[in-house]
Amino acid sequence: MTGTIALVVAAGTGERFGGGLPKQYRALAGRPILRHAVQRLMAHAAIGAVCVVRRPEHRALYEQSVAGLHLLPAVDGGATRQDSVLRGLEAIAAQAPERVLIHDAARPLVDAATIGRVTAALDAQVGAIAAVPVTDTLKRESEGAIAGTLDRAGLWRAQTPQGFRFAEILAAHRVAAGRALTDDAAVAEAAGHAVALVLGSEDNLKVTTEDDLARAGKLLAGVATEWRTGSGYDVHRFTAGDAVMLCGVRVPHSHGLEGHSDADVGLHALTDAVLGAIGAGDIGQHFPPSDPRWRGASSAQFLAHAASLVAARGGRVAHVDVTLICERPKIGPHRQAMTDRIAEILGLEKDRVSIKATTTEGLGFTGRGEGIAGQAVATVALPAGVAQREAGA
Ligand code: MG
Repeated sequence: MTGTIALVVAAGTGERFGGGLPKQYRALAGRPILRHAVQRLMAHAAIGAVCVVRRPEHRALYEQSVAGLHLLPAVDGGATRQDSVLRGLEAIAAQAPERVLIHDAARPLVDAATIGRVTAALDAQVGAIAAVPVTDTLKRESEGAIAGTLDRAGLWRAQTPQGFRFAEILAAHRVAAGRALTDDAAVAEAAGHAVALVLGSEDNLKVTTEDDLARAGKLLAGVATEWRTGSGYDVHRFTAGDAVMLCGVRVPHSHGLEGHSDADVGLHALTDAVLGAIGAGDIGQHFPPSDPRWRGASSAQFLAHAASLVAARGGRVAHVDVTLICERPKIGPHRQAMTDRIAEILGLEKDRVSIKATTTEGLGFTGRGEGIAGQAVATVALPAGVAQREAGA
């Protein structure tokens, strides 16, 4: 199936940060560190799927951190990083990937160029890792004083991602199980594989201390965000029935709504708004009414798909506003349930979801009670670099 899978290792306890949240779940510019790393990998064209190894006791934190992203099922980590990677490799073996990129969740600022250099090197190599040459002079210390000056020629600092042909690194990790090796390149080296060094980036830092977190925040603050807005509109006709689906909530009514899927005008309008914000067509192109797969389908999956396309561009849905237009049913009693459901589907805080309703004072088709209309606006944040690539700049 997938040519290249990114395996994100997020199974650390984050003890070095002291008490509180494990570092991979700490917020960086409003999003968990792990989510940054996952989204940057997902956004790269060379990567087909992303799988995260996390601690079983972090399940709830993990689910919250990656809400709305379409990832392979998470894998329970082991006692050490090396053990966690082996478990991750064993889990994705079922997908039969050709290559794997192993990446530390604590490196949230991995850039597309670095990912590209690692994957490109795998065309000719079994393994290739991102690294940066050592430029500072290296001193050996003894009792607070310099005991010697090291030759830094040929020295590099290893980063992640570290990329490998899948079969070779899985076999190497199986053999190395129980030995304490500090990174996956060392595992490959121990198996006798040549591993190439490709240029990483000084900005691809590993968040280990509070200072690192502050530095990552400053680097991100320098990246421009492009704000996009999309709108959507949908209408469905009343038919025989006893309930309507509106914004993902079943609302008892004297009629149903006619449609190929569950005929949810609120979610259809909203899906089109999200697609519109990223110029990704409309709901009919992604889920053709002619396709029997979508007969009676829950429209929640349409909206989740649109959100995953935003995530794949490294962006996020920041706010949505839906207006339902009908005389009946009354929306007010269901407004909170609708807000909660859309927040859940999109992985958004509830104050980023607005549900409104209006009648048309008895005028027009909604006034005559022939159907319900929905309209929606979605606001989406995209990293400016992604927006420029889309524009072919
Ligand atoms: Mg529709």
